[in-house]
Amino acid sequence: MVYRVTLIPGDGIGPEVTEATRRVLEATGVAFQWDIAEAGADIIDKYGTPLPDSVLESVRKNKVALKGPITTPVGSGFRSVNVALRKKLDLYACVRPCKTYHGVPSPYEDVDLVVVRENEEDLYAGIEFERGTPEALKLIQLTAEAKRGNINEDSGISLKVISEMASRRIVRFAFEYACAYCRKKVTAISKANILKFSDGLFLKVAREVADGYSGIEFEDKLVDNMTMQLVKNPRQFDVIVAPNLYGDILSDLCAGLVGGLGVAPGANVGDEVAVFEPTHGSAPRYSGQNKANPMAMMLSGVMMLRHLGERDAADRLEKAVADVIIDGKSVTYDIMPDRTSGVGTSQVADAVIEKLAAG
Ligand code: NAD
Repeated sequence: MVYRVTLIPGDGIGPEVTEATRRVLEATGVAFQWDIAEAGADIIDKYGTPLPDSVLESVRKNKVALKGPITTPVGSGFRSVNVALRKKLDLYACVRPCKTYHGVPSPYEDVDLVVVRENEEDLYAGIEFERGTPEALKLIQLTAEAKRGNINEDSGISLKVISEMASRRIVRFAFEYACAYCRKKVTAISKANILKFSDGLFLKVAREVADGYSGIEFEDKLVDNMTMQLVKNPRQFDVIVAPNLYGDILSDLCAGLVGGLGVAPGANVGDEVAVFEPTHGSAPRYSGQNKANPMAMMLSGVMMLRHLGERDAADRLEKAVADVIIDGKSVTYDIMPDRTSGVGTSQVADAVIEKLAAG
């Protein structure tokens, strides 16, 4: 079988880590037909937009994409291509596995957890009222009239929106993920003791969904306690499900626990479509230098193989990456103990391909 996959190289270090990943994926023996799709600031002159419709059409048609990071220029006219992709394709779940690999400098051993983050709502819904605008003042007045509290007139306001629908589907996603990947526990994160109507709703729905999955343990934690528990003993966690903001913060914390961005893969998933991409950004200062670590992107490729049902190839590729890390000779600067030496992006791909060939 040949898998047709949309390949979005991105910009900055994106094209280099994407090319390294394409090579190792093909070296597993799984056959791919790549639909190359360009997106990002570099193509605005050519297409008049950083996200042409043809990219969305390609992903919708193929249902699977492998994507390199894309820069969001600060202060430019266009909004994040990454956010636009997630919204337009309704990729409501962000999945970030965090696993320790022997040889990656980290204070922890044997961590293997997955953060499932709701991708569309919460404080990131983008519903904001600028200080002093008529809309902001109207909202302040409405709040006072409804006896919900007095807001200072010089306040900027961002709405935290949590719906039952989005909570139910993300928690269900987390439980289905736990079932599919033989995980034993789901931990739901909230601040429901304070935010009773938003996080409180999320937690209520999470408990209802959990009742339908008797084979999987369920617990809930307040987000502040959760950060401490993660630092003290991350091994107690398995699948973590959280609304957008807490999920964003916890997934970076968890990436830090296991050695950083160079080995942190990810996926944005909806009911129809899945886009696999590393957690890290386009690291512009390393662009074109054959210096960036391609392993986070390769491990995103491992996730993609599992999603496609190619579990044997996924296991072989993950083991090849892990073996290259253990050998310690063909890794990039960021996972070298001294952080000054290290090989280049394409040499990491060569080493992983050698391991795959050796079985
Ligand atoms: P970044 O992840 O690009 O870089 C953070 C730090 O990690 C830098 O020191 C960088 O050099 C290092 N780093 C990142 N990836 C690395 C790798 N593979 N190997 C070795 N070192 C690596 O984050 P940033 O600097 O905040 O963002 C840069 C740009 O990327 C911004 O325009 C941002 O909007 C964009 N971004 C895109 C995505 C995405 O496409 N999904 C995600 C995050 C950030």
